[in-house]
Amino acid sequence: MFLVGAGPGRPGLITVDGVRRLRSADVVIYDYLANPRLLDYAPDDAERILVGKHGGGERVPQSVINDLMVEKAKQGKTVVRLKGGDPYVFGRGAEEAQVLQASGVAFEVVPGVSSAVAVPAYAGIPLTERERSSSFTVLTGYEYPDKTAPAVRWDSLARRGGTLVLLMTTRQLRNNMARLISNGLAADTPVAVVRWGTMADQQTVVGTAASIADLIDAAGIQPPALAIVGRVVNLRSELAWFEKKPLFGRRIVVTRPRAQAQAFVEVLEDLGADVLPLPTIEIVEPDSWDPVDAAIDDIASFDWVVFTSVNGVSRFFDRLLERGGDARALGGARLAVVGPATGRALRERCLNVDVIPGEYRAEGVAAAMSENDLRGAKVLLPRAAAAREVLPKMLREAGAMVNEVHVYNTRVAGSDLVELRELIAESKLDMVTFTSSSTARNFFDLIGEEARAKFTETAIACIGPITAETVRALGERVDVSAEEYTVDGLTEAIVAYYLSQNSDRSAKED
Ligand code: SAH
Repeated sequence: MFLVGAGPGRPGLITVDGVRRLRSADVVIYDYLANPRLLDYAPDDAERILVGKHGGGERVPQSVINDLMVEKAKQGKTVVRLKGGDPYVFGRGAEEAQVLQASGVAFEVVPGVSSAVAVPAYAGIPLTERERSSSFTVLTGYEYPDKTAPAVRWDSLARRGGTLVLLMTTRQLRNNMARLISNGLAADTPVAVVRWGTMADQQTVVGTAASIADLIDAAGIQPPALAIVGRVVNLRSELAWFEKKPLFGRRIVVTRPRAQAQAFVEVLEDLGADVLPLPTIEIVEPDSWDPVDAAIDDIASFDWVVFTSVNGVSRFFDRLLERGGDARALGGARLAVVGPATGRALRERCLNVDVIPGEYRAEGVAAAMSENDLRGAKVLLPRAAAAREVLPKMLREAGAMVNEVHVYNTRVAGSDLVELRELIAESKLDMVTFTSSSTARNFFDLIGEEARAKFTETAIACIGPITAETVRALGERVDVSAEEYTVDGLTEAIVAYYLSQNSDRSAKED
């Protein structure tokens, strides 16, 4: 049994050990403050149990959570209790550990990055600084009405001089500030309140001990938020870095099979976005390997082998190896690819590409190959079932004998749909990205008619003209289309789109 800190929200801010424990979990019991994306680290068949309030729902009583942990652990399962921030900073972590101890359940604690330190950092506020503060105190703004917990010592805190970080304070803030001021804190002490720090929703309001409660009411700040009290708050004007990122505040869906999504997800996150990976399509075995095996056994007879995707390359060569062959089997065949990513996949297998089109699409590769005399040429085309017809058709028209074999199938995977529909319904989804026609078709299929009707405020970004055409044919609008049909090209186009939106925004404000 592991009590694991999930960090303050941003998925990268969990620890390496935290990820390791999630990977080994049979059961994950998680809070609403823990980013649900971290559940992707758990095995597919692990049980996932959300406790704590979500979307305005009721909070699960602590006794129920305690019983659940003990029960699952006693069944011999590896249980991860995933808690927001650090497990022992508020949030009743100590109590949960005591229950486990008393029930004879062995446990370990994996510390986490507490919101108390991470959220100020993302808001541009260092907790200590040589001239302004030589200590910080983390306290709760919420005091148990039944006084079962020791009272907060407002009198000594008010005169301490260092930085104060108040958690669980949003609804208590007026009261908290009044107590500090009445105990001697200067009314003009700078205060910042940060909501959903480290995430796209991060919102910061700055004022003074006297003014901050009115300011957050006016801004409509809801929990979760924390308050930072002290002169270090003034450093924010100089040191705010996160909010300046080009994709800050943007929530973007990436529809790519999990195996290829990682790099794209990370680039977007580094640019400041919150990313929702939605692996709407997944790679599975072809209906039959027989045609592929026959082609592999006869590989020396082909003049050309054409690859149209990274998946096609890896699936084909894996099969070749399994059958006892290797790259040498390709002998004199010339190699053509549809774009640079596919070309790199070949280079990784020590194979140079002979033909790569200027325009990264099926039409482009057919045209580029046709610069050679293709009459009577034997062409092997290992690719996905249900791929577009245009490539084999154009090659045949140029006189080639095309043997198309299916090295994989794509299948729709319906994960995380609940969260996605919620975000669409609340108009909180800024953009969805498509890197192929099938992901676009599957996506609109998956979200269903109702969510589609509300889809007007979400921008649509496509990797290239074919995907864009598919999206338009589905009756949707295309806002961003990459000039270079690669993931890097798409990222650039997305950044350019938001930069122009941001400057529109500030032009309006001027
Ligand atoms: N163990 C957690 C704190 C749990 S108490 C930790 O170490 O971070 C819950 C409080 O944490 C919230 O009321 C809020 O004050 C604060 N909090 C947690 N995540 C936050 C975030 N992303 N942004 C702002 N405040 C956050």
